This record gives sequence, C-alpha cells and structure tokens, in this order.
Amino acid sequence: MSQDSHCIFCKIVAGQIPAKKAYEDEDLLVFHDIHPWAPVHILLIPKLHIASMAELQPEHAALMGKMTVLVPRLMKELGVTNGFRMVVNTGSDGGQEVHHLHMHAMGGPRPWLKG
Ligand code: AMP
Ligand code: ZN
Repeated sequence: MSQDSHCIFCKIVAGQIPAKKAYEDEDLLVFHDIHPWAPVHILLIPKLHIASMAELQPEHAALMGKMTVLVPRLMKELGVTNGFRMVVNTGSDGGQEVHHLHMHAMGGPRPWLKG
C-alpha cells in the first residue's frame, strides 16, 4: 500500500493536515513534532506508507539510508551544534503511537521535556 487514507502522516504528505515542514523531496518529508520533547524535535518519514520498522524489506534500504544521512544535515541547518538523539519507536512494546514509520531526531540545549 503506498498511502493509507486513515493515516495521519499520509494526510500530512497529501497536504490534508498542516505541518511545519523542515525538508521535502520526492521520497521523504520532514516536519517538526507537534509536541516537541527538545528545543529541536523533527520527524523524518518516507512518503510511502510503511507502518513500522517491522515491515521494512530489503528494497527499502536506500530509502532508509537516505533518511538517516539527512539527519546530521538538517540538525545543523536547524542550529543544533552540540549533539542530537535519534529514536524510532516500533510496535506496541516499542511505544509506537503513529503507525507510519518515522524517525525522531532531537537536539538543542538541555534540559529537555523528555528523552
Ligand atoms: P511515536 O510514539 O513514535 O509514534 O510518536 C509519534 C509522534 O508524532 C509524537 O511525538 C507526536 O507528538 C507526533 N505527532 C502526532 N501527530 C502529529 C502532527 N499532526 N504533527 C506533528 N507531529 C505529530
Ligand atoms: Zn501513512
């Protein structure tokens, strides 16, 4: 399935729900988390609806590589100079609430709200 009409992050990709975008290309969208845990808190998502890391297939390797190498570049652009944290919650026990694969990237001076 490329998009899920009930998925909140697919709705952001489709422009049906607003988001504060930090980056976009043909494969990826990055936006600021609506409830940030840190001074900078972005979510990186594939535009393709992949429910979680548990659904990843070998053909997603390039997409995930592209997403990962984007993080340091965006953190720098967003003024994060002293390190950052990445989190990918997966499934119920992993604490995943939105079932469209997303990578959290957080940075900025501590203390943080969470994480
Ligand atoms: P997770 O527990 O990893 O599934 O986290 C989902 C994250 O998505 C949470 O940090 C939420 O604050 C964030 N979130 C949910 N809805 C939106 C939205 N409409 N715009 C931006 N971030 C959102
Ligand atoms: Zn989705």
